[in-house]
Amino acid sequence: MTRMRTRTPATGKRRLHRRRWRHANSAKPSREELLQAAADEAQLNGKSLTAIRKHVLNLLLDAKKPLTAYEVLASLDGVGSVSPPTAYRALDFLVALGYVTRVESLNAYMALDLGPSDVPLAFFVCEKCGQAKELSASDAVVSLISTADQQGFGVSHASLEVRGDCRGQLGCETWSESIVAAETLGTIDKHRHE
Ligand SMILES: [Zn+2]
Repeated sequence: MTRMRTRTPATGKRRLHRRRWRHANSAKPSREELLQAAADEAQLNGKSLTAIRKHVLNLLLDAKKPLTAYEVLASLDGVGSVSPPTAYRALDFLVALGYVTRVESLNAYMALDLGPSDVPLAFFVCEKCGQAKELSASDAVVSLISTADQQGFGVSHASLEVRGDCRGQLGCETWSESIVAAETLGTIDKHRHE
């Protein structure tokens, strides 16, 4: 088992140790395997996958699209304290552990189906259905970090989110429906006046 110390993110908080258990062509782990791995990982860091943390991870794994902190908060009713700090603490923990990522352009969180990744990830974000997909082949991000390094810029955090139309591959039922939806919602770029 190999462990790595990841970079300190921009928040200044040190990330937790993570095992390298995701491989390029590895099959998607079962829910049970993923939860067990997260629990083991938490234990390695002297923490535990508490009921609330497990609930939030399950919620995000079940979700069809990235969820906002407030959606996570709303789900805590009956599980634990329904307070923003509780939701944020659970999310921060899962992000630090590497099982959840924040999709910055949506200000929302999604679970990584394959578990923690050793390499920076890139994401496709659909502007119509709000779903996002991670890309395991993140050569573009690695290249950006390398360029920054060559120019003497110390990278603390890097992510690449590509927004657009999933054309029926994620949540939109079909390509044409996604276009109609976009026109109705006014989310096509030419209609934007932001
Ligand atoms: Zn879509």
